[in-house]
Amino acid sequence: MNTSFSALDTFKTCPLKYKFQQIDKIKTPKSPEAVFGSLVHDTMKFIHDGNFLLPTEKDALQHFSSKWNPEVFTDEIQERTAFVQGIKIIQDYYKKNDPNKAQIVDLESRFSVEIKDGKESRIISGFIDRIDKTDEGFEIIDYKTARKLPPQETVETSMQLLIYLLAFLKRYPQFEKNTNNIKLSLYFLKHGTKLTASKTPQQLEEEKEQVLEIIREIGKSDFPAQTSPLCDWCGYQRICPMWKHKFKEEKTAPSEQEKNQIIEEYLVLQDKIKGEKRRIVELQEKIIGIMENEQVERLFSEGKIISKTIRKTYKYDEEKLKNLLEEVGAWEKVLKLDGIKLKQVSATLPPQIKKSIEETKYLDKESFSINVKKDGGE
Ligand code: SF4
Repeated sequence: MNTSFSALDTFKTCPLKYKFQQIDKIKTPKSPEAVFGSLVHDTMKFIHDGNFLLPTEKDALQHFSSKWNPEVFTDEIQERTAFVQGIKIIQDYYKKNDPNKAQIVDLESRFSVEIKDGKESRIISGFIDRIDKTDEGFEIIDYKTARKLPPQETVETSMQLLIYLLAFLKRYPQFEKNTNNIKLSLYFLKHGTKLTASKTPQQLEEEKEQVLEIIREIGKSDFPAQTSPLCDWCGYQRICPMWKHKFKEEKTAPSEQEKNQIIEEYLVLQDKIKGEKRRIVELQEKIIGIMENEQVERLFSEGKIISKTIRKTYKYDEEKLKNLLEEVGAWEKVLKLDGIKLKQVSATLPPQIKKSIEETKYLDKESFSINVKKDGGE
């Protein structure tokens, strides 16, 4: 099994998060905290990266500012606070450290270390932020941008530093019997505090077993969700069974399937109504036929009376009507604007008048109708 310290750490924090990340390979955008941490690490590398002339504090601040991306923050106050924090980290770092005095051996060095588990091999890979030469030996340093400063015990039991030490010993096997001279440090940049520990060869063997135990656990895990304050920074909340209900949104748009169901139901009902209307006309004709046959105006059936109403529509003789109404000065009052006629008349008028007629137009009522046509694949 090939893995990394960060994957093992994720499993310890939450097995389900490990599954999403390492097995299902579901990508999530980097959180603002992660982007901030990466830029601070990049700036630390910039500060110490150089053979003769190391960057000044001003250069480091310039480097940090030029790479700052405010877009990753959704909140303006959060963005400004983080930027100020980054500047302060750099300023404090220069106050407490003289980069020219550090004896850097390696920066962001990639490693891959093998731990034997019986006949099986476990390969763990990663990056060590920094390795320094010291008077007694070496110092392995990992930068942290955590908000809270943890107790000294954290560095003494750090699985990360253990793995880094194993990687270091692969490179410098002469220190295997003398691990006390290898300092293991977590540098908490927001606090300007470095917590340091070291390990005996015996501790190293014991803790190696703990790493193997985690790897074995991964092999048989069913990856349960494990909530903790770290969930606040987890990018999988929307798919995590412990959190996803919080993100359940009101459905605003129907799905494709729902849309098809709506259309289908509408068409079925429309066909049904058409059929019923046709039948009503047929039945009405039959009822009228019965009335005419029996020469009656009303029919009685099971407590109901059916009668017929004659609806008559009339038309006026326009010429006679106009003459009549003009005589009494009422013609103008009954004139109704006829859109079709207006269009016909307007076509014969000069353009300026046509334009003026159009300008008198305003939206009165808006209505719609639904038309259904058979989909013939046009
Ligand atoms: S939100 Fe919390 S419980 Fe869910 S996967 Fe992430 S860390 Fe695990």
